[in-house]
Amino acid sequence: MDNDVYYLNNGYPMPKIGLGVYKITNDEMEIAVHSALEAGYRAFDTAYFYGNEQALGNALRNSDIDREDLFITSKLWNDFQGYENTKAYFYKTLENLGTDYLDLYLIHWPCEADGLFIESYRAMEELYDEGKIRAIGVCNFEQHHLETLMKETKIVPAVNQIEVHPYFDQHELQAYCDEKDIAVTAWMPLMRNKGLLDHPTIVNIAKEYNKTPAQIVLRWHLAHNRLVIPKSKTPSRIEENYNILDFNLELTDIAEIDSLNKNQRQGNNPDKVHIGSLK
Ligand code: NDP
Repeated sequence: MDNDVYYLNNGYPMPKIGLGVYKITNDEMEIAVHSALEAGYRAFDTAYFYGNEQALGNALRNSDIDREDLFITSKLWNDFQGYENTKAYFYKTLENLGTDYLDLYLIHWPCEADGLFIESYRAMEELYDEGKIRAIGVCNFEQHHLETLMKETKIVPAVNQIEVHPYFDQHELQAYCDEKDIAVTAWMPLMRNKGLLDHPTIVNIAKEYNKTPAQIVLRWHLAHNRLVIPKSKTPSRIEENYNILDFNLELTDIAEIDSLNKNQRQGNNPDKVHIGSLK
């Protein structure tokens, strides 16, 4: 099973493929989670901001999978940064999910101008020390945010969850995270199926391997030492996205996909997000 698992910098195992649930509605959740568990997923990525922690928790509890066999990630929303709020909203997230611990808890955006990410992270360190969280980390941290954080806190983040796809490969930030033993998880790994999966390079490689374009892109992420959390509400795609562990890409194909990089972000720039700027 090791092929499926990434050992975080504290030794805690994290499945390399998880289901992202951003935009999965409460009505869609039961089927999505059921399909994912059937396909073999054990990791689920949600956030307080997504408004679906309760639906995810209910769907997981309705399954016959034991809690200790699941890997649940959630995130501290921007508006709740700060030492006291971090603790209060962490417990709110636990209550929403109906669990007594999280596998991974992340700061959702640095919101550097607001000056609260260090005290928020210190609160998370305490929750980690108390055994309420198995690993702690961040999202959308650029190198300079990580440097500031690591200067002021004790625990090196286990994960940095960032936007990565073939048009925005983040190679410098990835190299920095690799050097510091911070696992990179790619959000928007399929570029939301907006003009990437029908790119001729991806389509041709997919034909060569008898795989789908999404499987090729997800495998490309794994080849770069990244974890992935593709989102889908569609059972056939959920299964397709998980079935990527039975083949490897040739180095030349990896390089061909690398060459698509345009340093083109699709989502928000972490240096511009501040408390209250995202709704
Ligand atoms: P993705 O790149 O995962 O794309 C999701 C879209 O691609 C959906 O429209 C889905 O359609 C479609 N899709 C999924 N699988 C396939 C497939 N095999 N073939 C064709 N189309 C497919 O984008 P997300 O932005 O959702 O990113 C994934 C996860 O990352 C989120 O769900 C969330 O958990 C996390 N995230 C974290 C952020 C952060 O700031 N930390 C920011 C954004 C996302 P359908 O559902 O209709 O099947």
